[in-house]
Amino acid sequence: MQTLTVVVPAYNESEGLREFHARLVAVFAGLDLDCSVLYVDDGSDDDTFAVMRSLAANDARVATLRLSRNFGKELALTAGLDHTDADAVVVIDADLQDPPELIREFVAHWRAGCDVVYGTRASRDGETRLKKLTASTFYRVIGRLSDTPVPRDTGDFRLLSRRAVDALKRVRERQRFMKGLFTWVGFRQKAVVYARDPRFAGATKWNYWKLWNFAIDGITSFSGAPLKLATYLGLGVAVLSFVFGLWIVAKALLFGDPVQGYPTIMVTILFLGGVQLIALGVIGEYLGRLYVESKQRPLYLVDEYQPTR
Ligand code: UDP
Ligand code: MG
Repeated sequence: MQTLTVVVPAYNESEGLREFHARLVAVFAGLDLDCSVLYVDDGSDDDTFAVMRSLAANDARVATLRLSRNFGKELALTAGLDHTDADAVVVIDADLQDPPELIREFVAHWRAGCDVVYGTRASRDGETRLKKLTASTFYRVIGRLSDTPVPRDTGDFRLLSRRAVDALKRVRERQRFMKGLFTWVGFRQKAVVYARDPRFAGATKWNYWKLWNFAIDGITSFSGAPLKLATYLGLGVAVLSFVFGLWIVAKALLFGDPVQGYPTIMVTILFLGGVQLIALGVIGEYLGRLYVESKQRPLYLVDEYQPTR
């Protein structure tokens, strides 16, 4: 029989985890696959891991993996994918925003020959208008800039075939924008539209500052466009400055050069200074990431791993 493993990254999700497991197990019952679940505790400080262990004690299909500290969702996911050898792997959030029932449909598409089946949100209940607006702006921007198309309104909820997981495992970059990487592997991809539910319990781990940094990570790891933009901005300003310089010289030759022009000098200095700082900042973003990559640290560290019984 073919095997399916569901990888669930969780950070402080103790309140909802039992309910999640109950719903997941109900889905397993309807699948003629050898199913298991791998809970990844991303260094929670509540009793998430204790709940995971008690689920594992009562259900032989449960494997648990605890990271040595909080590494963030992208790395927790990576750790989970590294610790499974199933024929198909599903990645899902622990907060029940993504309905586990959809896995049935994912499996059907996988059986029909798809390698990556991903859930695309038709709606996002229980999220603020500002969050929806910023999310849609982000998807538009990255859609324009990215070399690899990143599907819109698509989270990490998806099913991956064995060869897609193997391909993904070869990507060891530290700055991991998983949504982009899932698409980057290619093969046969398929979208399944669903309605995103509100969180079952607990609160989101993301605030706007984190989301902003996540967006910059996504853009810098999938596009060099900001660097190009900085070049063209510099070029444009240089051309304007040259024209302006010609005009100043001509004016001095024609009408003499009384000492004047304090406003012009101030505006020019400030403007050029600003443009230079922006360009340096853009370069810095890329350079900083290069620095992180070059250190070659391990992506994550495992505290303990308990496979299925
Ligand atoms: N998560 C994680 N590590 C983190 C933050 C989040 O493993 O540092 C998990 C979290 O427990 C949940 C999933 O990633 O299962 C999605 O997180 P969240 O619901 O906070 O994100 P949102 O749905 O608001 O985008
Ligand atoms: Mg969530």
